[in-house]
Amino acid sequence: MTERIAHWIGGKPHDGTPERTGEVYDPATGAVSGLVDFADTAIVDEAVRVASDAAREWRRTSLAKRTSVLFRFRELLAAHTEELAAIITAEHGKVLSDAAGEIARGLEAVEFACGIPHLLKGGNTQNASTGVDVSSTLAPLGVVGIISPFNFPAMVPLWFAPNAIACGNAVVLKPSEKDPSAALFLAKLWQRAGLPDGVFNVVHGDKVAVDALLEHERIKAISFVGSTPIARYVYENASRNGKRVQALGGAKNHMVVLPDADLDATADAAVSAGFGSAGERCMAVSVLVAVDSIADELVAKITERMGVLRVGDGRKDSSEMGPLVTAAHRDKVRSYVDGGEKEGATLAFDGRTHEIDGDQTGFWLGPTLFDNVTTDMRLYRDEIFGPVLSVVRVPDFTSAVDLVNAGAYGNGTAIFTADGAAAREFSAEIEVGMVGVNVPIPVPVAYYSFGGWKDSLFGDSHAYGQEGVHFYTRTKVVTSRWPTAQTHSGVNLAFPSN
Ligand code: NAD
Repeated sequence: MTERIAHWIGGKPHDGTPERTGEVYDPATGAVSGLVDFADTAIVDEAVRVASDAAREWRRTSLAKRTSVLFRFRELLAAHTEELAAIITAEHGKVLSDAAGEIARGLEAVEFACGIPHLLKGGNTQNASTGVDVSSTLAPLGVVGIISPFNFPAMVPLWFAPNAIACGNAVVLKPSEKDPSAALFLAKLWQRAGLPDGVFNVVHGDKVAVDALLEHERIKAISFVGSTPIARYVYENASRNGKRVQALGGAKNHMVVLPDADLDATADAAVSAGFGSAGERCMAVSVLVAVDSIADELVAKITERMGVLRVGDGRKDSSEMGPLVTAAHRDKVRSYVDGGEKEGATLAFDGRTHEIDGDQTGFWLGPTLFDNVTTDMRLYRDEIFGPVLSVVRVPDFTSAVDLVNAGAYGNGTAIFTADGAAAREFSAEIEVGMVGVNVPIPVPVAYYSFGGWKDSLFGDSHAYGQEGVHFYTRTKVVTSRWPTAQTHSGVNLAFPSN
């Protein structure tokens, strides 16, 4: 049975007949599990208008009421984690524990937004001039668009929507067409939490729907997460149309290993961060930078661990790594494995022959390790976004820092070492937005903010945390005087002074 996956507009599924639909797969079997409606410009317009009407009321809703909705949403999300994780696994393929993990990180962002009364406090100055008071408030923008990628179908919408809604905005979310059902589940939870219909809407689709959001005059801000070429496109077009925009892009994350690192702990971290979620994480480690003489020993320890990794259907408790999201993406990732040796890299572990515990028609590719990778290779330059890890050998710490800083991306990086001074120097000098010291995937907790540098983020606001509140509000400053008969000074054309 293929399920129809419809838009969610004004608190209910949209029942119109779509001109175009997209196939959604179960990546572990390769079967088509759903047909998702693709929005045209008229559907996006309808969703934005509904959101715009809802935003007018929602912005006037008391902070006490907004907070109670957020707290209820938090409770519902926590209570339904298993159900939502199953939805994610069925369309994305990641193992259930990993799907639950992304919900847990999303929950953190909801919890942050529960503190919105404190976060929205403005400033007040009495007697800025004689009898004149000044106050500043943070006002919502109106309707904001969120465009999210396939790899975190729940977490990325949860990075943005709770803050946007808490600040008094309405949301139109365009999730990835590859795994759209998690967004609908979130929509239903918002409704059950008491959020008025129309404040959170979901439109599905592809470039047509995205372009309609980027062009709609009532969309005031765009939060985008996806690959770098599309992030750049979204940033340029949304900005041209006068919108506030934050567009988070792709990555190529380096993990630098110094000779004094605990190599067993480092190998564990490299395998977890390289192959968790089949490498389909923007913070996955894709390049290991082995400094000085440790490369041979490190590669041996990593391949030993890769050999026992259990790849299989994400629904099975025994599986540690699932399939890739689509056949097309699996084939693209596999082409890098096929071409790596021709580029001159050493194939240290071949994922193409890895044992798979699942239906052979699934979109499988086991974990692969290449050694002696150099910076001129496509293996090194491109974001592969799959279970392929490259080892680059460098002679010293300075070469490692220079290598990372020469990269086009600047999302995440990590250093593994026992040397505090080296770690401190690395943190200070590295041109990357999120840095881990003996932490392979340094995704900031929700009360900090998430964002890369260089080609990993276009715009100047990071996601969630205080920067999220800043992004979804604009400052209004009110200067007021209440003159009495005694202080009223009559007509005065001079420049005001105190
Ligand atoms: P993608 O860029 O293909 O798609 C992202 C969104 O853009 C989707 O909603 C998609 O429908 C839409 N889209 C796709 N093509 C478009 C086009 N031509 N015009 C307009 N919109 C278009 O990304 P993806 O494959 O879904 O996700 C993986 C990518 O996202 C990776 O590059 C990964 O690094 C990146 N990512 C980045 C972060 C981060 O925080 N920096 C987080 C997660 C994922």
